Amino acid sequence: MRTLNFDNRFYRELPGDAITDNYTRQVKDALWSSVMPTPVKAPSLMAYSSDVAEMLGLSDADMHDPDMVNALGGNQLLPGMQPYATCYGGHQFGNWAGQLGDGRAIYLGELVHNNQRFELQLKGAGETPYSRRADGRAVLRSSLREFLCSEAMYYLGVPTTRALSLVCTGDQVVRDMFYDGNPQMEQGAIVCRVAPSFTRFGHFELLASRGNLALLKQMIGFTIDRDFSDWLQQQNHTLSKDEPSTALIEAWFTEICERTARMIAHWMRVGFVHGVMNTDNMSIIGLTIDYGPYGWVDNFDPGWTPNTTDAQGRRYCFGRQHDIGRWNLERLADALSTILPDAVGLNHALDQYETVYTQSLIDALVGKFGLDTWQDDDGELINRCFELMTRAEVDMTLFFTHLSHINLASPNIADLKIAFYTEQGYTNFESDFNAWLAQYAKRILQSTESIAARQARMASHNPRYVLRNYLAQEAIDLAEQGDSSMIETLLKLLKNPYTQQAGMEKFEDKRPDWARHKAGCSMLSCSS
Ligand code: AMP
Ligand code: MG
Repeated sequence: MRTLNFDNRFYRELPGDAITDNYTRQVKDALWSSVMPTPVKAPSLMAYSSDVAEMLGLSDADMHDPDMVNALGGNQLLPGMQPYATCYGGHQFGNWAGQLGDGRAIYLGELVHNNQRFELQLKGAGETPYSRRADGRAVLRSSLREFLCSEAMYYLGVPTTRALSLVCTGDQVVRDMFYDGNPQMEQGAIVCRVAPSFTRFGHFELLASRGNLALLKQMIGFTIDRDFSDWLQQQNHTLSKDEPSTALIEAWFTEICERTARMIAHWMRVGFVHGVMNTDNMSIIGLTIDYGPYGWVDNFDPGWTPNTTDAQGRRYCFGRQHDIGRWNLERLADALSTILPDAVGLNHALDQYETVYTQSLIDALVGKFGLDTWQDDDGELINRCFELMTRAEVDMTLFFTHLSHINLASPNIADLKIAFYTEQGYTNFESDFNAWLAQYAKRILQSTESIAARQARMASHNPRYVLRNYLAQEAIDLAEQGDSSMIETLLKLLKNPYTQQAGMEKFEDKRPDWARHKAGCSMLSCSS
C-alpha cells in the first residue's frame, strides 16, 4: 500500500475530548473525541468510485489492496490516520435537539493530495461517544443510496460530498425500517465519504447554545482558515484565528448564505428532495450532505416528501426547501449573533440569500425552459406550467427532456404524453396544456436563437438520467443478493446525466406502477 499524506488539522488544531473511553456522554469544551472504528466480521469492497479514488491519488490496485479494504471497513488504520468523531448539535424538525454529534461517522483524518485537502469519513463504523441509544451502524440499502446519489449529484453539477467506497461488513444489523415494531436483520455496510469539510451549522450552534464563546470564535477562525482559504484570499480582511473580526464573520456568513442558496436552487432544478434538512445536516461549505431519506421527484409536486417521518408536517417537502434553507441560516445567524455587536450584518446576509436564490432559480428556469432571457411575464408562464404538471401528474425529468423537441409551429401536448402518469391526467388537462404550449411556443419564437442552440442549452440544464428512487431500489435488491452489477451500471450512466447514452433508454423510464407506494421507492424513514 502506498504511503498516503495525512495532515489532520481538525484533530491537531482544535481542542479534543480528554476522555478516551467510548461511552455515550455530553462532551464539553471540545470539538472531537478520539474513537476507533469497531472492527467488522468480513469487510468486502462492493463498489468504489474510481474518480474519487483518482482525486485522492489512489489507483485501482490500491483500492483492492487488502490493507485498504480493511481500512475502509474500519478494521485497520493506515499510517497517518487518526480516527475521531466530532461534536455538534442541531435543530431537528424545527426544535433544538442539543448535542447530537457523529453517532455513526468516524473521521479517518485529512488526506492531502495535489494540494487539495479531503476529510475521509466512515459512515456506519460503530459506536462513538455521540451514538446515544443507537448502534453506530448503517445498512446496505441506505449506504448504497448514499454512495450512488452523492456521486450522481456531483456529475449533475450540484455541490455535494462524495463517496469513495461502499464496503459490506459481513455483519448483520437490526433495523425497524418503519418504526412499527417489526425489526429485521439486514446486511451492514460502510461508506467512506469524502469532502473538503464535513463541518455543519450544528457545530457552531452547539458552542453558542452552551455559551462557549471562546471556542465558538476559535472554530470560526479555524473554519475560515482551513475551509474558506480561497475565499479569504479575495477578501479585504485578514484573519485573526482566535478573534475573527466582526466584518470578517459577517462576510463569511454572507458567503455561507450564498452557497446555500445556490445549492438549493440546484436541488430545485434537478428535482432532488433532501428529506431531512435539520441544521445538523447543513454543510457550512454549502455541500449537499447526509443522504438519508432523500428522493427524486417523479411526478412534479411541490408538496412531495420521500421521508415518512415527515409525512404529516411536510416540513422538508420539495417546494419548501428554499424556505427551510432560510430558516436554517437564521438559526446559524442566532449562533453567530452571540459574538457580534448587532444583527445588522447578519440580516444583510440573509437578504443576500434571497437575492442569490432568486437569481440562481431564474438562471435554472431560463435554462430548463429554453428562454432567451428572463422577462417579467415569464414567472406567470412557468408557474402555470408547474401548476398543470402537479395537477395532471406529469413526470418532471421526462417533461423537460421532451419539451425541447416540440414542434413550435404547431405545438401539441401529445408529443409530451410519455411524461404523464395516468391517462386520466392526460385527458383532463389536454386542452389546458395545449393552451399553455401555444403561449410557450409564442414566447420561444420571440427569440432569434437557433433551434439547435436552444436545445443544447436546455439539455445542459435538464438531466436525462437521475437516480430515480425505484432505480436505487432495484440496485439494492440485487446488491442484497451480492450482485453489484446495477451499481456499476448506474454509476457509469449517471456520470453523464445530460447526454443520451446508447442502450440506456430504459433508465429514462418514469416510475413504474409497482414502485408508486413501495417501501424504498416512495417511502423512506430517517437514520437507517
Ligand atoms: P441523521 O438523521 O442521520 O442526520 O442523524 C441524526 C443524529 O443521529 C446524528 O447525531 C447521527 O449521528 C445520529 N445517528 C443516526 N443513526 C445512528 C446510528 N445508527 N447510530 C448512532 N447514531 C446515529
Ligand atoms: Mg445527519
